[in-house]
Amino acid sequence: MRPQEIIATKRDGKALTDEQITAFIDGVCDGTWADYQITALVMAMFIRGLNRREQYSVTAAMLRSGTIMDFSDIDAPKADKHSTGGVGDKTSLIIAPLAAACGLAVPMISGRGLGHTGGTLDKLESIPGFDVNLPFPKFKKILKTCGLALGGQTNQIAPADKRIYALRDATATVPYIPLIVASIMSKKLAEGLDVLVLDVKTGSGAFIQKYAESVKLAKALCETGKSFSVNTQALITDMSQPLGKYVGNALEVYECLKILRGEADDMMQPTLELSVELVATMLVQSKIASSIQNAKFKIKNAMESGEALDKFRQNIEMQDGNAKVCDKPEMMLSKGLAEIPVLSETNGYVAEIDTLAVGHAISDIGGGRVIGDRVQKGEELGIAYCRRKNQTLSVGEKLRGAYKISKEIPRTTNLIRGVV
Ligand code: URA
Repeated sequence: MRPQEIIATKRDGKALTDEQITAFIDGVCDGTWADYQITALVMAMFIRGLNRREQYSVTAAMLRSGTIMDFSDIDAPKADKHSTGGVGDKTSLIIAPLAAACGLAVPMISGRGLGHTGGTLDKLESIPGFDVNLPFPKFKKILKTCGLALGGQTNQIAPADKRIYALRDATATVPYIPLIVASIMSKKLAEGLDVLVLDVKTGSGAFIQKYAESVKLAKALCETGKSFSVNTQALITDMSQPLGKYVGNALEVYECLKILRGEADDMMQPTLELSVELVATMLVQSKIASSIQNAKFKIKNAMESGEALDKFRQNIEMQDGNAKVCDKPEMMLSKGLAEIPVLSETNGYVAEIDTLAVGHAISDIGGGRVIGDRVQKGEELGIAYCRRKNQTLSVGEKLRGAYKISKEIPRTTNLIRGVV
């Protein structure tokens, strides 16, 4: 089947057959399709659309382009969480050890930062020595021993997605639901899961910002998961402001360690709350807990007994990181950073935060106001921690610009916006 014939089918608005989709994905993997041909077809898919069968077929072909990990010799239910990406979204670092402490096996394959969003791999690598490049036998051994393994996408996991995703990123074809679903699910289904819980972000810091579109994405992800016999549920959660207290790799690890140590302050509560909701859903879906209430009881015990922190400590050791950070989270805070307070220029209430701008503006920010907080002119909105002094001016300005102050008290949004 020639690439140009397949491209022409979609260019003319017709549905692709399963054979055409398989030929496309085969060509992506064996190199017989050039970048410009892949891009042309993906752009035609973006503009002309994919029906549900085609979306399923692309997902299945991308999944089959690699291997599906086999953890059938591990007794515990295999479960993972995937987030569609946000700013300050650090819950994976709490969820994986907490879920493992509650009896799940969590084979978590994560990604790097994408656009304005941070990536779990980058956060983990800010722990001195932490190795995310795990060959499968080592990944499995770690999973078997401590209940969680935290790695990156290897060439064996959905390699077709790896090539297609890089081209989509460079050709403005990321934000199309069927392509997002195929991309996310081909990687997650390769983890050999029983249960998948999705955190679909909505609001100014999310890839898909409109609530109705986020619901559509959540439904499509859940339907796809279920059609591959993975018990899949989604929470739609607020990303109209950064999650929790800190944004920036090392600072986010610090926040997670404080939470796992039971030392969360008020600004860290949203991170804790969302992590608990997501783990509770994982426990109920995998039948380890009989209800959300029962799950939250187990979670409280795992946190208060220190078992969740112990799981993280054991995992960091097995992945060659310095596990002393668990006892001294302050080790994650670099010394000698330039600190610049970002001050409000008016009196009023923080009405909106352009979370996308916050994500773009900085790599590290601490402190910070949340929507609904009252501020006076000259009061601190947040603190930017900069590695170089010459970054402070531009970062400060961009951050101040991300905050909209209003005279009226704004309506605040619930962290959990919906369940699909
Ligand atoms: N994350 C992915 O892995 N793929 C997408 O297409 C979008 C977000």
